[in-house]
Amino acid sequence: MKEAVKGMVVIDEEFCKGCGLCVRICPKKVLAIAEHFNSRGYYPACVVRKEECIGCGFCAQVCPDVAITVYRG
Ligand code: SF4
Ligand code: SF4
Repeated sequence: MKEAVKGMVVIDEEFCKGCGLCVRICPKKVLAIAEHFNSRGYYPACVVRKEECIGCGFCAQVCPDVAITVYRG
């Protein structure tokens, strides 16, 4: 049986300026910098291993642009 999801992270790409802080702080390597631009010309963070998220919220805490929301389950 599959383990229950503990966290779900959502990034609003349009608020992101691609600083990479969230990518660096995530202990589970859930996030990465995307290879496409957002509408402001930044490479935004994206979720690459969503099943690994533990809902710790570190990424949301460090984001200077409040682009990340973490839901805990
Ligand atoms: S909530 Fe924690 S585990 Fe999930 S993406 Fe953010 S830093 Fe990573
Ligand atoms: S910390 Fe915020 S602004 Fe920086 S890359 Fe992550 S989502 Fe984007």
